[in-house]
Amino acid sequence: MTSHYEVIVIGAGVAGIYQIKRLADLGVEATVLEAGGDLGGTWYWNRYPGARFDSESYTYGYSFSRELLDEWRWKEKFSGQPENLRYLNHVADKFGLRKYMQFNCRVDAARYDEARNLWHVQVSDGRALTCRFLVLTLGLLSIPTLPRLEGMGSFKGRSFHTFHWPHEPVDMAGKRVAVVGTGATGIQVIGEIADKVGELTVFQRRPNWSAPLNNGPISDADMADLRRRYDEIFATCARTPGGFEHEPDRRGFYEVSREERLALWDELYDGPGFGIWLANFREIFTDEKANAEFSEYIADRIRRRVKDPAVAEKLIPRDHGFGVQRVPMETNYFEAYNRPNVHLIDLGETPLVRETETGLRTTEDGGERDYEFDIIVYATGFDAITGAFDKIDIEGVGGMKLADKWRTTISTFLGMMVHGFPNLLMPSGPQSGSASTNYPRGIETGVNWCTDFLEHVWAKGYTRFEATEAVEKRWTDHVTGMYAMMLMRRAKSWFTGYNSNVPGHEQGTIRYLVYNGGSPKYVGIINSVAAKGYEGVTLGASAPPGNPPHSYGEVSR
Ligand code: NAP
Repeated sequence: MTSHYEVIVIGAGVAGIYQIKRLADLGVEATVLEAGGDLGGTWYWNRYPGARFDSESYTYGYSFSRELLDEWRWKEKFSGQPENLRYLNHVADKFGLRKYMQFNCRVDAARYDEARNLWHVQVSDGRALTCRFLVLTLGLLSIPTLPRLEGMGSFKGRSFHTFHWPHEPVDMAGKRVAVVGTGATGIQVIGEIADKVGELTVFQRRPNWSAPLNNGPISDADMADLRRRYDEIFATCARTPGGFEHEPDRRGFYEVSREERLALWDELYDGPGFGIWLANFREIFTDEKANAEFSEYIADRIRRRVKDPAVAEKLIPRDHGFGVQRVPMETNYFEAYNRPNVHLIDLGETPLVRETETGLRTTEDGGERDYEFDIIVYATGFDAITGAFDKIDIEGVGGMKLADKWRTTISTFLGMMVHGFPNLLMPSGPQSGSASTNYPRGIETGVNWCTDFLEHVWAKGYTRFEATEAVEKRWTDHVTGMYAMMLMRRAKSWFTGYNSNVPGHEQGTIRYLVYNGGSPKYVGIINSVAAKGYEGVTLGASAPPGNPPHSYGEVSR
């Protein structure tokens, strides 16, 4: 069995699949190590009811192959998890990528060996592999986190984090089900299962602003039109800050009348997907007063949909404005609370105390109250963006650990390289353009840049690269500076590195994880770095110039 590769890619999700496609096309000796039992990343794991794209399906698919675009038929505007996983499998099979992938291969450690200029990669099955270049496509939201509650694990019924939803169907008919968490995941689950379970009790710590997804089928005629327009669609995605078809309304918030603002908001609320967030006035993100006026508009829409006014008020956020956290898209979410079998527990009033053998315990009127369930669903989020990096013991030059380097502040160069960690690339790393954009659009950019960079390295005969400390600092200052103008800098959300369940990531420990400059600006910067011969990256030579080392006879396309 091969133990040395030119490139090891870790993670066979959306980014890893495209990364290995690019490497396979170059004929590079490369493999993908994947902890899961199969490919698909987020769409392999998140099998909970209601899991679906919040991106328009046809902007989520890969853009690299005309043939793939012409043959794949999206059935819904916002496609569901089973179909999304089928799509990724189709891509892997079509391009013969499975043979490069190794599943059930959790990487425990990766250590850079300065003397030999290679990475040692330790796999949990005991194998020790080596590679020249290490590419981390670990996913931004791949380490689920559970509440730090007393008694966790003592519940005798079935309980799971949404990320670990069982592969086989879960019979919930007639069951007493609890959902803890009302982020994008909880909101999808609740809307989907409310009419399929016996009793549903939602434990909400803080409400989230959310708006209708407005999903629908894609007809044959619509699909034919989409295929005709793919070039135009991807060009639009490339010029918008979020990588979607939704373009900000460039009229000034205060330049138009209140009536005109309301007309836009009515249209966006009834329109598809993230339009309500991203096709809005830009002041929503930066101006308290504009944000407050719009948030009040959304609060009114919630009041119109929820029959019990007291419940409606509990579902309206008070601690943050619309859009300063990632906006969950919902289907029948607010209507779920009009059902007699759905109950909302406000954990702001009665916090969770512990998990018990029979369910969950909260405080109540100075005492405690027990709730009994058959199933507990934890939709409690992720150790976002850096969690998957922290899980692997990554050691760079001089024994420096990446987890230590990033413990208090994150620093990267372009979100794709880290000083002190030579020959390591992160096409969708912290501070890269991926987290804040339509993910596949961001990862195609990242993977293409990293692969073009590796081609440059191979062509010139370099075998070692490392971003300098100076450019890393400049980039990190740039990323940090951009938070200053955004209302989201104060939000308790994964955009600011907040997670109450991870020690050190509680409120007040803002971490600058996300690039807020928008996709066109990000692409402009990384392209200019490349055009200047990868300025800021120290390149070292120890091999003759030429093609990358091959081991696979054929080149897969
Ligand atoms: P999340 O947004 O972090 O939400 C976690 C929820 O659990 C919050 O309501 C949080 O309350 C609550 N919670 C966490 N710990 C708790 C505790 N100890 N006790 C009580 N409540 C607790 O996580 P998520 O919903 O999984 O979403 C994460 C991200 O995944 C999204 O923002 C999105 O980017 C992505 N996602 C995407 C899609 C899609 O594209 N279709 C779907 C789902 C998720 P607090 O707000 O008080 O912290």
